[in-house]
Amino acid sequence: MKLRKTKAIVLDTLDYLETDKIVSLLTLDFGFKKMLAKSAKKSIKRFGGGLEPFTIGSIEFLEKEFSAFPSLKYIDIDKNYSKIKSCLEKIYTASYINELVIAFLPINEQNKNIFKLVEFFLDLLEKDNWNNSHLLVFEIKFLSFCGVIPRFGLCLRCKEKINKETTIKFSISEGGMVCGKCLKYQGNLIPISARAALLGKYIKVNKIEKSLSTEIPEELVSELREKIKLFIEDYLGQSLKTSRFTT
Ligand SMILES: [Zn+2]
Repeated sequence: MKLRKTKAIVLDTLDYLETDKIVSLLTLDFGFKKMLAKSAKKSIKRFGGGLEPFTIGSIEFLEKEFSAFPSLKYIDIDKNYSKIKSCLEKIYTASYINELVIAFLPINEQNKNIFKLVEFFLDLLEKDNWNNSHLLVFEIKFLSFCGVIPRFGLCLRCKEKINKETTIKFSISEGGMVCGKCLKYQGNLIPISARAALLGKYIKVNKIEKSLSTEIPEELVSELREKIKLFIEDYLGQSLKTSRFTT
């Protein structure tokens, strides 16, 4: 048995047996984990409000060799995001972020970049000036950190760079753009404007702060978010429960 300490973001909880809960956590040092919180349903005192989704805290847990789940011992709340929790729209957005993490991250694989990304965007969502372009920046950076980002900047087939004048389509299954010259080899292609593809590339290659401070036309955000949504659904082979609330 090993007692471990780390920082964690609560993603989701599920009632388990009579009195326990299974908690999905994104930890800083041990990646995505599911843990057993014993008596969490019975004793409010033990974990306080610390097991609510969108809470960040310091945790201690026991890793046992033959148990399915490590045992969560306590959580010391660091940020409880009260503004997110009191606004339905923010709850939907944060739930969508959490659902993406759960759907994409393998169990037990450390990824500090993703932890910091999720914390950064929860901090941003807690403030008042949140808009949909912020969610687009999150989606692209998240997919990029997961290594499943579409190739936005060039044609998948002839490798020619996309510019504003290029006619392109998005091949969801191949994960990238196909230019007009290569369109004769059909496949499952959906229309996308070159501006939307170039926006995807811009967000992918630039620092988060730079993308966030760039003014992006609303219709371009909607167009690219719609394509990203199709890409995510195709990759996961299912749609996310929360994605329809965030568009
Ligand atoms: Zn081409």
